[in-house]
Amino acid sequence: MSNNNQKAIQTLNHSDASKTMAKLRHQLKQWSNQYYVHDKPSVDDFIYDRAYENLVTLEKKYPDLITPDSPTQRVGGKTLPGFQKVRHQIPLLSLGDVFSKQELSDFVTNLRQEYPDDTEFNCEHKIDGLSISLRYENGRLVQGSTRGNGHVGEDITQNLLTIPSIPRKLTRPINIEARGECYMPKKSFLTLNQYRDQNGESVFANPRNAAAGSLRQLNPAVTARRHLSTFMYNVADYNDLKTNTQSGLLEELRELGFTINPNYEVAHNMDDIDRYVTKCTEQRSKLPYGIDGIVIKTNRLDLQMKIGHTVKDPKWAIAYKFPPEVVQSKVLGIDWTVGRTGIVTPTAKMNQVVLAGSRVSRASLHNPDYLKEKDIRIGDTVNLHKAGDIIPEISEYVPEKRPSNSKPYPIPVKCPSCGAKLVHLDGEVALRCINPKCPAQLIEQMNHFASRNAMDIDGLGPKIVHQLFDKNMVEDVASLYHLTHDQLMQLDKFGEKSTSNLLTAIKNSKSNSLERLLYGLGIRHVGSKAARLISEHFKTMDKIMNADSQSIAQINSMGDIIADSVVTYFRNPYAKQLVSELKSSGLNMKYVGRHRVANSYFNGKRIVLTGTLSKMTRSEASRWLENRGAHVTSSVSKKTDIVIAGTDPGSKYGKAQSLNISIWNEDYFLKQINNQ
Ligand code: AMP
Ligand code: ZN
Repeated sequence: MSNNNQKAIQTLNHSDASKTMAKLRHQLKQWSNQYYVHDKPSVDDFIYDRAYENLVTLEKKYPDLITPDSPTQRVGGKTLPGFQKVRHQIPLLSLGDVFSKQELSDFVTNLRQEYPDDTEFNCEHKIDGLSISLRYENGRLVQGSTRGNGHVGEDITQNLLTIPSIPRKLTRPINIEARGECYMPKKSFLTLNQYRDQNGESVFANPRNAAAGSLRQLNPAVTARRHLSTFMYNVADYNDLKTNTQSGLLEELRELGFTINPNYEVAHNMDDIDRYVTKCTEQRSKLPYGIDGIVIKTNRLDLQMKIGHTVKDPKWAIAYKFPPEVVQSKVLGIDWTVGRTGIVTPTAKMNQVVLAGSRVSRASLHNPDYLKEKDIRIGDTVNLHKAGDIIPEISEYVPEKRPSNSKPYPIPVKCPSCGAKLVHLDGEVALRCINPKCPAQLIEQMNHFASRNAMDIDGLGPKIVHQLFDKNMVEDVASLYHLTHDQLMQLDKFGEKSTSNLLTAIKNSKSNSLERLLYGLGIRHVGSKAARLISEHFKTMDKIMNADSQSIAQINSMGDIIADSVVTYFRNPYAKQLVSELKSSGLNMKYVGRHRVANSYFNGKRIVLTGTLSKMTRSEASRWLENRGAHVTSSVSKKTDIVIAGTDPGSKYGKAQSLNISIWNEDYFLKQINNQ
């Protein structure tokens, strides 16, 4: 922290301090909510720290100006020193489990024999996450903890405060300790693991481990970037509630401001329970979160208390775990693919099998350590399961079926694409090719360069990129801008029209705003958000190339990791050369803000999106339209030019009809995209 700054802060009078503190609180809150890439490792947010310390200084001087919502009272900007232990006044119980419908039915029968009044069960999804407990005093969150061993857990309040579904303040000023599950949605789990793979880090085995790892680490800023969510389903002490049933409790939790899982049902008999199980089994693969079974609970809370619990589990509830879906297949080979950043990833190729509803013939083996640990060999029969309900994964090889002449799989020492020696960079688990001219990397870089969030070159898909390299028409992304009509005509199935479309798309990309180019370069850790912020800040490529690490790190507490990566990238002579070639091909090197694609049909049009699109998400569609100068708005009015309607459109559709506004379906929209 600069001394001047510190002095200036200390000399503020009460009224100026009050204003400055409000500003600091606002800024700090915004910063801690922001994230740039999905899993940016812990960063030394030095700007954040400085603002935070200024706030602390002022709060020390004027304690009367401390507000309960001050970040100093909540999410710390700093790494936590370690977790405090929390003794749970009322223990968090686990759950007994059964693995067959017969056992489930026995459980119900036995319970009813002993408690004939027990005629209603609340059926719930069993969320694949980890138990948490949230304590509120006067409606304000005062502590959040893990279950630990049920009696003693860890205080993870700072991390839990970063999760949007957890209310800081309830709708009523009551004292309550809510319990439930913290989980990582499937989509976040997938992206997180992909990101970790691409960056040479180890992957999480399932969403439960990923959620636990994200909560039990010492930097709240990392937790914030992991997109966790929660479903609450219990309270420590029922006496605080108005309701007298489990299903009512869920609704009461919802009214208090918690997120509950809406997929619960009250069952009156075994048939109802069976139907619930069947329904969940069918729903499972389509749910946005992982479940590993269902839980049935005696619905009446007074009965729950009467039935009681063992030392470990409640006697009024049971979990039915889905049978694990495991199928066997045979490993035919191991492919090593070189990614954009040179990471070489092994993938097992297997005989095709159907696993949890989808055809599977490949499974990632992530990195050499993983492969060695699992000791997978060619010719092995392996058990396959789906990690977190989504990713096909090899559980283990089947020893009885291993051929007698099998040998450990030799880890390659040379790049499968260019033959360069492979290396491990500073302790990474990943193996890398560090040859900047490696064709496999150049191909992947070009795919990235052309992708929608980068230069958005329509029609330049992976197949065409491959051909361009195969036919030696390009060497790197710079050579894209030298492609000629005659060259493109030689590509498979390319006629006049496709050739001229692609040439136009390439030409149009030259006028893209700087952030697209910066992102397209594929600098490590620089996601599209970071690229935008950096471009917005520095305005020109030259300034970015000459920026020092500190000035980049300062932009919205972006942090050292991104900053160092940018500086290192531009220090490389290849990078300098590449940018100068792009410059001489006439690429725009300035930040021009939103209206990136000139002369678009969509420029200036007011557009509303409704319903679900199948080929892209609505936010991708909005971005695409906005990049062409359209104003994408959320409600239909007389001024709206076009309504784009996917399946199950909402009321906007009717409104558009009544106002006689032109309505496009997705197909038509896609045609227009291709014509652009
Ligand atoms: P397990 O750890 O697999 O034996 O299952 C017990 C755990 O399931 C509990 O400790 C809870 O964290 C979790 N769980 C997930 N969903 C629910 C639910 N709807 N009701 C109760 N517990 C649940
Ligand atoms: Zn290589």
